[in-house]
Amino acid sequence: MKKHAEEQRTQPCLVRLISLGCPKNTVDTGVAAGALLVAGFGLTADDDEADVMWINTCAFLLSARKEAMEEIRRACTWKKRRAGRLVVVAGCLPQWDKDGAVRAKYPLVDAWEGIDDPAGIAAVLKRLTGNKPVPEQKKARPCTWIYDETTPRLTVESEHFAYLKIADGCCNCCTYCLIPSIRGALRSRTVKSVVAEAASLVSLGYRELILIAQDTGAFGRDRTGGKSELPELLAALDKLPGEFRIRLMYVHPASIDDAMIRAFKKCRRLIPHIEMPVQHVSGPVMAAMNRHITAERQSEVIRKLREAGLTIRTTLMTGFPGETEEDFRLLLDAVKSRVFSRIGVFAFSPEDGTPAAAMKGRVPAKTAAARAAWIAAEQEKISREANRALAGQTVEVILDEDAGRGRWRGRMLMDAPDIDQTVHVSQCPSGLTAGTVVPVTVTRASAYDLYGTYEPEGREPGGKDK
Ligand code: SF4
Repeated sequence: MKKHAEEQRTQPCLVRLISLGCPKNTVDTGVAAGALLVAGFGLTADDDEADVMWINTCAFLLSARKEAMEEIRRACTWKKRRAGRLVVVAGCLPQWDKDGAVRAKYPLVDAWEGIDDPAGIAAVLKRLTGNKPVPEQKKARPCTWIYDETTPRLTVESEHFAYLKIADGCCNCCTYCLIPSIRGALRSRTVKSVVAEAASLVSLGYRELILIAQDTGAFGRDRTGGKSELPELLAALDKLPGEFRIRLMYVHPASIDDAMIRAFKKCRRLIPHIEMPVQHVSGPVMAAMNRHITAERQSEVIRKLREAGLTIRTTLMTGFPGETEEDFRLLLDAVKSRVFSRIGVFAFSPEDGTPAAAMKGRVPAKTAAARAAWIAAEQEKISREANRALAGQTVEVILDEDAGRGRWRGRMLMDAPDIDQTVHVSQCPSGLTAGTVVPVTVTRASAYDLYGTYEPEGREPGGKDK
């Protein structure tokens, strides 16, 4: 059996990358893919032909850890089916597993890597395929790493939009959140580094650059000691030549000041839409969450963003310890007031090791879930009405995927890929490419999907002929 294993390992090694969790993880997966290709390994999407299963995990919530462990179990079963196969687990789960309990549960895993060196997978595999042991990583390593423009990266997310991770880690320390303990303190790339990567992506044909971080608004604060460099970055990106758009995601409301709003208004390339997770609108709940912003200031930020012409996507949390019926009503009223164009809602999950998990006033899980369901139902109603109001109008749609026979799947400008709603477009001419923005006249709508036809001579929202 051992001889067979060695024979297997002399063949070209094909790696199957599995990326769980958020777009920040997707970028790290792209860095691993880049390092593997540079080192001469191959990539495959086919489990059967793969020699290595590399799983980039998420551990933000219990549900994410369950999903990661399910994937590890599946990989261990896959490994047993053919001698010589290897399983490597990377990302947030090994970083979260500070006492090694998860590692101990899966002895078939050949190596565990944290978040600090996704490119290190190439060196790990060289050792493993050379039958050399990988030094055991018992404890999570410090989180200090962030890639830059010189790091080889495969944009695994898409061929027409690309995530640009401008910073990693977080110093906001919201009381419910494990991220600072998993991904470490804020560390930002330089403006120069992000602009250089953006220029390279645009020259390769990417038309949508999506700026991401744990808190995108905090970009640069670790260097300046307080002032965000996001306005400076947006101004520099705006000057780049080429045809592309910028999307901003994950901006903490406390990071937004008037200078930033002015920068949003000035940036011609910025899609007038912002992903700003507010979590709650009730002052006492926000204070207990350690959100660094008062309810009054947050509603001022929302008002100013809307006055500046931006629509807002947000995430909300129900059932945080101490949330009263009245607090929840305030949240529901904010949803009903339609200040948010898109909403994701979650029930509070007490994560061991966070201050919130030990707080008094725990809201029963059933109540928290029922409140989340109430908000989701309200939002569905609002979304259905808003979509139906678009019937007969022409909207701009970013084409994402050719569905064949003149049909494309796409999304409205405000909608982020893989998260928000889809527009199903028919009667498209041939020759269109992914990432192109086309006029689509809406013919039918449901709560989270729009259907329409490609129509170059369409009508603007409001019914005016072009
Ligand atoms: S801003 Fe708050 S919720 Fe977001 S990553 Fe930082 S600590 Fe977690």
